[in-house]
Amino acid sequence: MTALVIAEHDNASLKGSTLHTITAAAQCGGDVHVLVAGNNAGAAAQAAAKIAGVAKVLIAEGPQFADGLAENVAAQALALASNYSHILAPATAYGKNILPRVAAKLDVAQVSEITKVVLPDTFERPFYAGNAIATVQSSDAVKVITVRATAFDAAAEGGSATVENVAAVADSGKSSFVSREIATSARPELTAAKVVVSGGRGLGSEENFKILEPLADKLGAAMGASRAAVDAGFVPNDWQVGQTGKIVAPDLYIAVGISGAIQHLAGMKDSKTIVAINKDAEAPIFSVADYGIVGDLFEVVPALVKELG
Ligand SMILES: Cc1cc2nc3c(=O)[nH]c(=O)nc-3n(C[C@H](O)[C@H](O)[C@H](O)COP(=O)(O)OP(=O)(O)OC[C@H]3O[C@@H](n4cnc5c(N)ncnc54)[C@H](O)[C@@H]3O)c2cc1C
Repeated sequence: MTALVIAEHDNASLKGSTLHTITAAAQCGGDVHVLVAGNNAGAAAQAAAKIAGVAKVLIAEGPQFADGLAENVAAQALALASNYSHILAPATAYGKNILPRVAAKLDVAQVSEITKVVLPDTFERPFYAGNAIATVQSSDAVKVITVRATAFDAAAEGGSATVENVAAVADSGKSSFVSREIATSARPELTAAKVVVSGGRGLGSEENFKILEPLADKLGAAMGASRAAVDAGFVPNDWQVGQTGKIVAPDLYIAVGISGAIQHLAGMKDSKTIVAINKDAEAPIFSVADYGIVGDLFEVVPALVKELG
């Protein structure tokens, strides 16, 4: 029994989501191999080889993998699939683009967004926006699995796996890379941040959202938002936390002017400590909060910043 993890990387280094996926793969019980499909991706492969629990790194190189086109990476995974009992990728936009193609071609049922490995063929996954947990068993010969990164610890360094070159599949010719717009921010990446300061409709405007910046600065936090705040145009779309946004589980999540709709909770309720600031004592966010402040955010947030020195 051997699991293959499809690494999410930028050719130079591994994305954090890959480390969490390696932990899930190790819990499937057998050896763990990591596929790095990239272009000049030796550094990413070496990084994978240093992760504890990884037995082998397979590197497939070529310009067709330079930008992670799902058609090509999926074809590469399929070329190797017969050697594996499990094929896993993070449940990020990257993994969710690749693995359904692999599952369809293998004619197996994908097991999506697992949060726990119960047995090598049995997994837990949330549904109904995280309000229920399904335990699912796969009888397929190859288990094709996307992994919710926040549910598994990141695998640590400490390994010394072998790195093996494998024959790269040809460019599928089905898609081509045009351009990429990368949001630049001095703040940590939302899904990887240890502290997140999130704002909701209660902020009232794009201008008012700036009140959260000094708080985020003091705490070295990423900034997030509810969908209502995003839909109102207060902040960019990639700040959205929730069922249809990003899933986060930081050490500290501060929800400001957010009511706590189930779709928002689905994206942040696994945070280790939740602080809610809301003027409505009945707001559902307080049902998941470890600490709550009932008050006007326009008074509470500046007071908090002052207190933090
Ligand atoms: C299919 C589907 C998917 C969805 N996906 C998501 C998702 O991914 N993420 C998400 O967030 N939502 C999602 N939603 C929307 C969700 O249902 C809620 O509408 C949304 O989360 C509400 O955002 P909010 O809490 O900012 O706004 P509101 O519910 O309007 O809450 C605003 C809060 O601010 C408080 N407030 C107002 N003024 C102040 C003040 N001065 N001081 C302190 N508090 C104040 C109010 O008391 C209130 O509790 C989804 C909905 C659907 C149907």
